[in-house]
Amino acid sequence: MKTYNTDLHLHSPHSIAVSQKLNLDTMVKTSEKKGLDILSTGDILQPEWMKYMENNLLKEEGGVFSYKNVNFILQTEIEDEESIHHVVFFPDFESVREVQNKLEPSSKNILDEWGGRPRVNLSPAEIVDIVTDLGGIIGPAHAFTPFKAIFRQGRFKTLEECYQDASKKIDFLELGLSANTELADHLECLEDISFLSNSDAHSQNPRSLGREFNKFLLDSPSFEEILQALRRKNSRKIELNVGLHPKLGKYYKMFCGKCRRRILFKKSKKQISMPFSQYSITENFVIYFANDPESSKVEYINNVAEKKITCPACKEETGNNYKIKLGVSERIATISTYDEPVHPDHRPKYINAIPLIDIIRALKGIKSTNSKTVNKAYNKIIETLGQEFYILIDLPIEEISKYDKEIADVIQAFRNDEITYTPGGGGTYGNIKLDV
Ligand SMILES: [Zn+2]
Ligand SMILES: [Zn+2]
Repeated sequence: MKTYNTDLHLHSPHSIAVSQKLNLDTMVKTSEKKGLDILSTGDILQPEWMKYMENNLLKEEGGVFSYKNVNFILQTEIEDEESIHHVVFFPDFESVREVQNKLEPSSKNILDEWGGRPRVNLSPAEIVDIVTDLGGIIGPAHAFTPFKAIFRQGRFKTLEECYQDASKKIDFLELGLSANTELADHLECLEDISFLSNSDAHSQNPRSLGREFNKFLLDSPSFEEILQALRRKNSRKIELNVGLHPKLGKYYKMFCGKCRRRILFKKSKKQISMPFSQYSITENFVIYFANDPESSKVEYINNVAEKKITCPACKEETGNNYKIKLGVSERIATISTYDEPVHPDHRPKYINAIPLIDIIRALKGIKSTNSKTVNKAYNKIIETLGQEFYILIDLPIEEISKYDKEIADVIQAFRNDEITYTPGGGGTYGNIKLDV
């Protein structure tokens, strides 16, 4: 048995907002820099992408697919009639085609050029039955995000509520960028389920592809082995989840549904008599001042959950009322069954990480996500010290320090969970704060 770094949720240029440069060659190039062994194809139900993959992937013995040095799992994302996203894996192209045929009558865009993530007007349970009957594996995608997710505000609180009898056929749950094991293990209904941490990449850029990944212990990089690992059978398993710190995700904090400002609480210098009456408005935040920010926040979240709170910034700017929506952290708090996370024995360790390219950007004070200076520095450190995941997770800090003391300090800080973050929310990624 061997470990494989695995990213199992990607897209293709046939989904909106995806880089047209994303293809097998660019995926493999980034994988070599990062240390990824298995990728998913993304969007495999889309006819042109399916043909491209079928023509280019080499099929080896035991149902293993490969392109150059990277192995591939056939994968797509599907949106159901409840607007919930699901991640799906297939054993072979035959089952991809069978599922495509079965779903086609219920989907307007599954055969479209832009149908990379098809909308299928069937219930969650109906889609699970079709996929699993034809040999596939399925689970909810980015399960806690405020949009398009099973546990979003106002929707389901348990897997059973959503999938009913088909919930037994769910083999995993994808955490999403704004959640980790620490947060998700507040829900008792997830104790038997394996968690995946995947990038949901829309680009081959090393800050996107593999920004989250799973370390699998497998005998070979096949669909069948992945399935056994998700079910924790025959010593196959996920050994480690690595993902962005949830605060770096786009949906961690509650936000205004209209202006997308994030909501924060701070301790007030003066005594405040009316709760939520004192606040300041900035470009990206509404900051409430409170005598006891923690307890005020709990009260506020309960009100947001009941859709009772509107955005004071929008009121000032437009005179209209727009609702505040729960972010991932607050949504989990409202549907938690445990006050503290309870990790089942099988749960692997989760490392909150920061993509190396974002560490370099932050240290150089460069905002652009496509800076030549940053890309050059990234390529140089990889050439000198080794693959990104090795540098971030395994390489002794002294070794990194000999190369670059500043980078070593940031990596040590996140390994020790000592980084301060500006939390993301409302569609904006969070940031690391290096000055504290
Ligand atoms: Zn999605
Ligand atoms: Zn607003």
